[in-house]
Amino acid sequence: MRPKVNIPVKLGDVVTAHINEVAYGGQAIGEYEGYPLHLDNAFAGETVRAKITQVNRKFARAQLVEVVHPSPDRIDAGRPDIIETGIAPYLNLAYPAQLKLKQHQVEQIFANEDIHTSVAPTIGMENPSHYRNKTVVPMAYADGHLVTGFIKRQTANTVVPLDDYFVNDPIIDQVIGQVRDILDAHQVTLFSDETGLGQMRYIMVRRGYYSGEVMVVLVTQTPELDDEKEIAEEIAAVVPGIKSVMLNVNPRRLHLMMSGENRLLWGDDAIHDTLLGIEFVIGPNSFYQVNPQTTEVLYTLAAEKGKLTKHDTIIDAYSGIGTIGLTVANQVKQVLGVEVIARAVEDAQRNVALNDIQNATFVTADAPTQMKAWRDEGLEPNVIFVDPPRPGLTPELLDAVVEMQPERFVYISCNPKTMARDIRYLLDKGFSLSGDIQPLDQFPQTAHVETVAVLVPNH
Ligand code: SAH
Repeated sequence: MRPKVNIPVKLGDVVTAHINEVAYGGQAIGEYEGYPLHLDNAFAGETVRAKITQVNRKFARAQLVEVVHPSPDRIDAGRPDIIETGIAPYLNLAYPAQLKLKQHQVEQIFANEDIHTSVAPTIGMENPSHYRNKTVVPMAYADGHLVTGFIKRQTANTVVPLDDYFVNDPIIDQVIGQVRDILDAHQVTLFSDETGLGQMRYIMVRRGYYSGEVMVVLVTQTPELDDEKEIAEEIAAVVPGIKSVMLNVNPRRLHLMMSGENRLLWGDDAIHDTLLGIEFVIGPNSFYQVNPQTTEVLYTLAAEKGKLTKHDTIIDAYSGIGTIGLTVANQVKQVLGVEVIARAVEDAQRNVALNDIQNATFVTADAPTQMKAWRDEGLEPNVIFVDPPRPGLTPELLDAVVEMQPERFVYISCNPKTMARDIRYLLDKGFSLSGDIQPLDQFPQTAHVETVAVLVPNH
């Protein structure tokens, strides 16, 4: 039998708790009579009143009721709707404190892997709002009219109506409203999870930061949307910068909001934007960094840390549509890109041609397999860039890096936990960190952080 634990709270209790820290991911960790509470929208040093919403053996979840003693870094952004949705969990924390918190969290994550190294102050944005170049939003009918917004936290499909999403390019917010009103005038049916019936699911809007080009994607459950031609024409007539209206058919009840199945309704099937002066074609499913302003800072920093020269042959593993490799191509001898999604590689190849770049090639393959293939062909890349998705690098990739012994290994990560795990592995296999770990705030007001580190082999 498990020992009985004395849990000092029960469901529905309202207790006064002290907040000790905010963990990576944004949860405030508080304490009531020695028992941990997890809640949102609370910050270190605060005393709060919180209502218990879930009780486990080890901790309880709670909901903030009142801040009794606020942190000196707490501000009131005046947007309880945004807090309700979870779009921007740090919205009520002053921006300099957000940057410090992220630096501190990265330090802790690395210390937990027994990596004791210097973490530089987080590089932030000058205007840390309205930065996102893409969004996908749900909708609902309220009093017979369509509303757009975001799903309320801890609910399956309660839409909190929003006009200003705080983190989006303001023109994107405006476009969402325009598209919503057109769909409303056509009284589109909405897909219901319960019945499996209905057509519309989400609106996706993407806008080029420099180009101003806009793509609208109507995500449907059905292969067709009633009045789709008229709807697309009406969108094209009012949306500023519109270049593309597409239909994305997603009949599955997955958490993925879009499928890979697209049909063009109006205009072109892609938009263009530039990053560090290089032009990119971006399709409806292309991965493209959501904060164009900090992405330029990130890539510039990664290139500097990679100490690139005209003699270098670099690998851009996890290359997506080629953004890292192509923005540094003019600084190096050769760029070898590898990416597992064929369509992204096609985009990367279009981007090579579009920019008339002669020294870059992109291949569709699993990164570690292709790295071995390049070696077998006699290529000797001396700098490797990786920019993996949240789960980080696989053991195969790490072993391929160990095998290749690149002069410099530049790791860009959107998840410091998996990054620290992978760096621990490389430190144990004869690599050392070169310079500071650098966090960068790609996602202001949210709990995410981007981090760059460089490793070199010990010789
Ligand atoms: N560097 C790009 C893309 C980063 S996103 C940019 O900044 O825009 C990470 C990319 O890694 C995705 O495009 C994903 O499809 C790709 N990927 C995931 N697993 C991979 C693997 N095993 N081999 C190669 N690429 C992979």
